[in-house]
Amino acid sequence: MSTQKIYILGIESSCDDTSASVICDGKVLSNIVANQEVHAKYGGVVPELASRAHQQNIVPVVQQAIEQAGITKKDLSAVAFTRGPGLMGSLLVGTSFAKSLALGLNIPLIDVNHMQAHILAHFIKEENGKIPPFPFICLTISGGHTQIVKITDHFDMEVLGETIDDAVGEAFDKSAKILGLPYPGGPLIDKYAQQGNPKAFKFSKPKVGNLEFSFSGLKTGILYFIQRNVKENPNFIKENLYDICASIQHTIIEILMDKIKNAVKHTEIKHIAIAGGVSANSEIRKRLQMAEKHWGWTTYIPKFEYTTDNAAMIAISGYLKYLKNEYSDVSVTAKARLKVTEL
Ligand code: ADP
Ligand code: MG
Repeated sequence: MSTQKIYILGIESSCDDTSASVICDGKVLSNIVANQEVHAKYGGVVPELASRAHQQNIVPVVQQAIEQAGITKKDLSAVAFTRGPGLMGSLLVGTSFAKSLALGLNIPLIDVNHMQAHILAHFIKEENGKIPPFPFICLTISGGHTQIVKITDHFDMEVLGETIDDAVGEAFDKSAKILGLPYPGGPLIDKYAQQGNPKAFKFSKPKVGNLEFSFSGLKTGILYFIQRNVKENPNFIKENLYDICASIQHTIIEILMDKIKNAVKHTEIKHIAIAGGVSANSEIRKRLQMAEKHWGWTTYIPKFEYTTDNAAMIAISGYLKYLKNEYSDVSVTAKARLKVTEL
């Protein structure tokens, strides 16, 4: 085997974070993320503004990632980028930049599926980190997706079940919006929930298939519950914020845990990973850790920096493809819609 080190630059621009990362032989040397503040006042991501911000951020973010890695761009072995899914205007910025850079440096270009990358972040080599063996189950929970995926090999995945309406991140964000909290509300619900009573209020769980999810009914239930109570007491939210957040979070996490249990029963696989922005949630992390003791599962919980959108997960996916000489042509185009099983 050659002893030459493999340096992969990863570029992520699918939504509202511009990110670049350099990894060397599977270890992260840098992972720079520029969050776009511009969307907060609109209560959600504005696609047009996101593309413009990517355009402004991408050069300095990539430069910083290369600098912090302690290398120069001439050391790079390949450029990996998010091809989709995501917002078209945002994806185009990263895609075009990655193509130009790969062409300019005369190195391979590698297209990465953002949803696969959330899962493949578990293959980043960390000090004392554990890497899941095949096959394992991953619960991918983010602002746009909620899926249970069976992973048989790095790029051999099967969706066992997914949401039939809203994603779990949306359930957090929309509930937060009902409570008058700013976007994205997920992290705030998590924060306030820690001081509240999770059993204070009860919300009903959806009745859908064993491995399917549904969150739109819960959102409506929460909306009516708040409207009803605010009518009686205009200060209801303020006086009960912690308990409301704790109860909402408890209901959502119960739903997720029920589904993982169903998946374990269905597949008899006990290696369970979580991925995506909502895997930053303290309650799901705690519950999974407890599941190791209670049910003998082995669980894989990503480091916080690899939960929400980041380029380290793109770089590790690129590295795994690089090892198989799976490069993409420069005629490759961004794809707003892409299933986790594609690419
Ligand atoms: P996507 O790529 O689908 O846009 P991300 O993977 O970036 O989504 O995840 C963003 C989502 O994660 C948002 O909906 C946000 O509210 C949610 N989120 C982030 N941290 C937490 C948390 N601690 N608890 C619950 N939800 C969270
Ligand atoms: Mg994401």
